[in-house]
Amino acid sequence: MEDAGAAHTHCLECNIPISEGVATVRTARGVFCADCFARLKQQAQQILAAQSDNIDFTRAVTGAVLGGIAGAAVWWGVMIATHVSFGLVAIVIGVAVGKGIVTFTGGKRAQSLQVLSVAVATAAYAVGTYLTKRTFILEYLHQHGKLGDLPLVPTSPSYFFGVVSAGFHLFDLIFLAIVVQQAWKIPAPVRLPG
Ligand SMILES: [Zn+2]
Repeated sequence: MEDAGAAHTHCLECNIPISEGVATVRTARGVFCADCFARLKQQAQQILAAQSDNIDFTRAVTGAVLGGIAGAAVWWGVMIATHVSFGLVAIVIGVAVGKGIVTFTGGKRAQSLQVLSVAVATAAYAVGTYLTKRTFILEYLHQHGKLGDLPLVPTSPSYFFGVVSAGFHLFDLIFLAIVVQQAWKIPAPVRLPG
């Protein structure tokens, strides 16, 4: 009578009774007979392989850029409104870029998309940082009675990076790391455990 539980076990898929001597595979969900498990595993692998097939990169780039623009705009607005206190909202840039890619490609996930996501999110973060710091610099100038102006559209790369790195501190890098982490994670391919 010992092992009574096992005697009443059935394959979760085809429901054949599993008695001693039948090859089985135990999973977190339950017990499968070996045939069913092999078939299900193959189906899962096909589905997972399809997630990285036939990627429309034009749509991927479009989704990434739209997400980047939206994320950078939100972040800029929050930074201006809160004066850096909610800089952590930078996370929306990484999320918006990653979700933009997955949405515009119809749910594709691949390593190439992860690389695209990180590249666009980093650029969007740089643009958001540029806009934020330009605003702060102009505020500072006006508070000190200096009627300065800075072009909104950067006139040269050195001007752009000069503004981005103005008053640079460690938070800039921490926010960037958070942005990159989200951008990398969201379009990551799903893998079979084990
Ligand atoms: Zn079965």
